[in-house]
Amino acid sequence: MKYISIIGSTGSIGTQALDIVRENDDLKVVALSCGKNISLLEKQVREFKPEIVAVSDEKDAADLSLRLADMNIKVQSGMEGLKAVATAENADIVLTAIVGMIGVEPTLAAIEAGKDIALANKETLVTAGHLVMEAARRKGIRILPVDSEHSAIFQSLQGRGTILPMGMADLAEKDYRANKISRILLTASGGPFRGRKRQELQEVTVEQALKHPNWSMGPKITIDSASMVNKGLEVIEAKWLFDTDIDDIEVLIQPQSIIHSAVEFEDGAVIAQLGTPDMKLPIQYAFYYPERRYLAGDRLDFSKISSIEIQKPDFDTFLGIPLAKKASRTGGTMPTVMNEANEHAVAAFLAGRIKFLEIYEMIQYAMSEHKVKESPVLKDILEARDWTDDLLRSKYGV
Ligand code: NDP
Repeated sequence: MKYISIIGSTGSIGTQALDIVRENDDLKVVALSCGKNISLLEKQVREFKPEIVAVSDEKDAADLSLRLADMNIKVQSGMEGLKAVATAENADIVLTAIVGMIGVEPTLAAIEAGKDIALANKETLVTAGHLVMEAARRKGIRILPVDSEHSAIFQSLQGRGTILPMGMADLAEKDYRANKISRILLTASGGPFRGRKRQELQEVTVEQALKHPNWSMGPKITIDSASMVNKGLEVIEAKWLFDTDIDDIEVLIQPQSIIHSAVEFEDGAVIAQLGTPDMKLPIQYAFYYPERRYLAGDRLDFSKISSIEIQKPDFDTFLGIPLAKKASRTGGTMPTVMNEANEHAVAAFLAGRIKFLEIYEMIQYAMSEHKVKESPVLKDILEARDWTDDLLRSKYGV
């Protein structure tokens, strides 16, 4: 039996993870949390009977406790609630399916409590990668990527004779150091605006930006995909997960989302993972790694694929990747500022308060104003986050 905690169980990743739990008798949920969607959380609690439940607000916690009065379960709230879910005593693995850098503290708490992490919440690695990887190394826990591209890289790395992500040295073959990776090839669909030029993005609407061609995801990551900030965040995520130089990660546009990512080795061999776009595969792989289990769903039909298209990204129009690489090269608190400016801007865009291209403008402005703090500890990272929000509020009024 494997015991699972989920932070962010009501979202796109969280609900798909629960579908996997439904299909497998040897998975048991011990803790669940959400932000505001207490109606769905109530249903999940009744079905999966976790021991610990948490929501964002105290008022919602009181409301949900009342609704669940017949189950005698205490609902916790705020950051303490998230940490309680992340550190649930009986959990073997914590799925970080929460959106945004609010995931940093519960993820660190889970690692300190000795839990393996199935990591979907990329913003945590973007802002606090050095702290997360150091803690994982120290505690000897495993960080298993859930992001489809990172899972694809991880799966491709199995062909190397070693396993790189944290805490897996015990599974590595002896000669793994001989097999050097020369590049990570991180694929991107290009999102709904692929092929457009800058002036064609001036007036795009929220509805248009939310129409992702291949993947059905939560609103924040869907906007990030349209701006390609998501791919920028993923480059930083890959750098931390696979201990790679940022310049050895190449982004390629693969519009059909058939190649989920690849690794090129020193001898020129490229090993890729291919499949249909279905997040259940990487979620299930993280839960059961290194075992592969049957997963219902469509299979790739190669007889129907006439070509696999690959394009170079347009860095002049879509600034997400260059901005993220710049933030990562600068280091210190800069990735936090880049990430938070994006979170701030995306929330404003979704609320209809700024235009699409202002997302880039806000990120650039915050990065240009920031005085970097090197080797930041958690407190510095949280201060950089708050500094960014204050700066953007005073400049843009949103
Ligand atoms: P969603 O918006 O669909 O879900 C987010 C979850 O986090 C919900 O359960 C939400 O609760 C909860 N939440 C949001 N804000 C708070 C808060 N302040 N306090 C507590 N809980 C909160 O996001 P996704 O599932 O799309 O994405 C989750 C993470 O996974 C992101 O980091 C994303 O980048 C990453 N990811 C997602 C993929 C996908 O296919 N969706 C693919 C790869 C990575 P509520 O429902 O109540 O708002």
